[in-house]
Amino acid sequence: MPRPLTTSLHILVIGAGIGGLSTALALQQQGHRVTVVERVATIRPVGAAISLWPNGVKVMHQLGLGETIEGLSGEMTQMRYLTHTGKTLTDFSLAPLFGDVGQRACPIARAALQQTLLEAVGTEHIQFGRRCDDYTITPEGVTAHFDDGESLNADLLVVAEGMHSKLRSKLVGHPVERQYVGYVNWNVRVPADAALAPLSHWDQYVGDAKRVSFMPMGSGGNKEGAQEFYCFFDVPLPAGTANDPDHYRDELREHFAGWAEPVKALIERFDPARMARVEIYDIPPLDSLTAPRVALLGDAAHGMAPDLGQGGCQAMEDAWVLAQAVQRSLEENADASAAIASALAQYDRARVDRVGEIVQRARKRAAMIHGHDATHTQAWYDELKNEDGQAIIDRLKTTVTGGPLG
Ligand code: FAD
Repeated sequence: MPRPLTTSLHILVIGAGIGGLSTALALQQQGHRVTVVERVATIRPVGAAISLWPNGVKVMHQLGLGETIEGLSGEMTQMRYLTHTGKTLTDFSLAPLFGDVGQRACPIARAALQQTLLEAVGTEHIQFGRRCDDYTITPEGVTAHFDDGESLNADLLVVAEGMHSKLRSKLVGHPVERQYVGYVNWNVRVPADAALAPLSHWDQYVGDAKRVSFMPMGSGGNKEGAQEFYCFFDVPLPAGTANDPDHYRDELREHFAGWAEPVKALIERFDPARMARVEIYDIPPLDSLTAPRVALLGDAAHGMAPDLGQGGCQAMEDAWVLAQAVQRSLEENADASAAIASALAQYDRARVDRVGEIVQRARKRAAMIHGHDATHTQAWYDELKNEDGQAIIDRLKTTVTGGPLG
């Protein structure tokens, strides 16, 4: 709920992705004037869908979007791992997790999530087709400089420009290179069909350090209200392999020859024009996510392997924590400059360890799933045979409850 406003700031957010828009909304709800600047003229989310785990959904509820997101997303109540030939390794209910943390997960079409956030922020507050190239700190605040030669002054700058962030290196004071995690992910939406997977299950086929996933993702608000699956394929490959939609089906036929019937059926069914093929990168954990008058947020701050499904959820947590810190600091400090400095220090304290740990854990999990050390991957397959779900649920619960909303 919005709290009474002490001082209204002008806050500039660079990037209208999940991180930038969540932050803009959280700050608007506290009565601040927020301007979002987005490089592209029209946002077309890369990737089919995203699983919002309860820590992310809890932030959306705080921002008043929880019910909309639950309505647009899939009901995923069961989790199953299978071998590449379709033998069940483990099959368990996610209800104990969702019951314990008081919130279910919401797998949702990226386009639906993006649209929900855009509408909530209001497109009149977003300047599309404008790229931020630099910023300077001034005695009064911060000035952002754009590719059209114009500049904008603000009290606070939030850099939420994604994994490829150019401003990040300036902010942290040293170059930060992306690191290849070692595998390629193809992801796509297909009509939900019980012949592929049970409609409420998250099914994952694993073998030979590869993975295929089927996740119920709801209708995303499509006109027909037709339920869809969010599906992906992971294959360990060197960086820089050719990316040509005309070859996706043949590539996947080759990588998954001999796999279970649902995997083969999926490969024959998907529409390559709706598929994204991405090489997976992360960035090393950073020691600080702030500089005077500037906060780094979302993938720009902690681009991570998607193997915990936490990148977007962490961006939402960042947004909530930053907005709360700004609010608290303004209530405690009569001087806006001192309040901003205090808010940035609180944000840094709350987020550096949390996101650094998750980046590292996601990288370790990516390595285990994708065969960086074949013995570790085999040990994981063996472990899954004896898994009753409790250990997986415990790990998911730790990730969720480590967030700002418990
Ligand atoms: P982005 O989405 O990259 O947005 C940055 C925006 O900034 C873009 O719109 C860009 O155009 C704009 N921009 C860039 N530079 C500038 C500039 N200089 N000036 C102005 N605008 C600029 N996360 C989950 O929580 N759950 C999942 O299940 C999940 N699955 C994933 C699966 C895959 C295959 C991948 C690759 C990622 C997955 N993620 C998942 C991670 C999630 O997608 C990201 O963490 C999230 O999208 C990051 O949002 P962001 O706003 O920080 O960055």
